[in-house]
Amino acid sequence: MKRIYFDYASTTPLDKRVKKEMDKCVFGNTMSLHSFGQEAKRVLEASREKVAGLINAKPNEIIFTSSATESNNLALKGLAFKKKKGSIVISAIEHPSILESAKWLSSQGFVIKKAKVDKYGKLDISDIEKLIEEDTFLVSIIHASNEVGTIQDIEKIRNICKKAYVHIDASQSFGKIPIDVKKLGVDLLTASSHKMYGPKGVALLYIREGLAIEPLLHGGGQEQGLRSSTINLPAIAGFAKACQIAKEEMQEESARLRKLRDRLAKGVLRIKGSYLNGHPKDRLANNAHFRFDFIEGESLVVQLDLAGIACSTGSACSSIKLEPSHVLLALGLKPEQAHGSLRVSLGKETTEKDIDYFLLVLPKIINQLRLISPFKWNTQKK
Ligand SMILES: *Cc1c(COP(=O)(O)O)cnc(C)c1O
Repeated sequence: MKRIYFDYASTTPLDKRVKKEMDKCVFGNTMSLHSFGQEAKRVLEASREKVAGLINAKPNEIIFTSSATESNNLALKGLAFKKKKGSIVISAIEHPSILESAKWLSSQGFVIKKAKVDKYGKLDISDIEKLIEEDTFLVSIIHASNEVGTIQDIEKIRNICKKAYVHIDASQSFGKIPIDVKKLGVDLLTASSHKMYGPKGVALLYIREGLAIEPLLHGGGQEQGLRSSTINLPAIAGFAKACQIAKEEMQEESARLRKLRDRLAKGVLRIKGSYLNGHPKDRLANNAHFRFDFIEGESLVVQLDLAGIACSTGSACSSIKLEPSHVLLALGLKPEQAHGSLRVSLGKETTEKDIDYFLLVLPKIINQLRLISPFKWNTQKK
């Protein structure tokens, strides 16, 4: 059976050109004085330059880490440990790596406040403004939602943050939409390699020049003392190649994906009792997110999988727990509505044929599931 992958928001396959770059990468330790070490050091710094170039950062503002989870932890805890006390504002629709870091910091005496979003997942700017106080040292916002794809107006948010630093989790937007850290005015930015056709096990934290934070890992002093441990060079070289490819192909690819996504959304929304979640326009070109009356998202994902189609209910992290997504609840959906949701995320290998196959299969599955739906039964009884 042909299998179709519609879960690019959860992770992406490795681009063949990236794999080639990794295969030819040198093995030396960047901290060694001999020629093998120096060779490795050159690859590391050339990679850093390429990665920095994608967001208009200086190479010395990029710290390589092992994952976006680590970068988010480093941004929040690293700054909190430096400041020692005060408050942090985050949004209600953050990734668990921000939510849980913030929750832990609150157990350590920091004050955490959550800003509301509207029904499209757009941050309520006046709410952030109200939450920011004299002691607020950080505002951390997800740039584009990993669930519903809504993109935030970071420049507007930056403008009301006064002297608080701004961190954005750009794991979903990096490599997909143009990002200029200087123009956005952000102080910290998280991006991940495996969400943009690079290898797993590598990510970055952009830290604006002059901003000091505490490290989480202490040791040999790599990455300006902010992230000790031997450099994962093949992964970093692959990440850099993925950034170079994104820079060259982003515009064309996102136009292609937007067209495919719109075709998909138009087809899906013909199904009775179906709705689009997230913002109608300000969303990632590859993201579609739907809600269906009288449907349970997990059953839908399983049935689609049996038909060879890989989708998600929202986030890979919450689907295992079977709890309604905190993001969809923050958008104002009721728990049963949140449970009836489906995320379809497109990518490089998606074709028009895939979309048409999906549109052929989905209505049949929805019909079947509705026939046996306990939700429908409950509703009829009331
Ligand atoms: C995927 C993702 C993360 C975490 O990435 P890991 O690679 O699992 O550490 C963090 N934030 C967002 C928005 C993501 O999409």
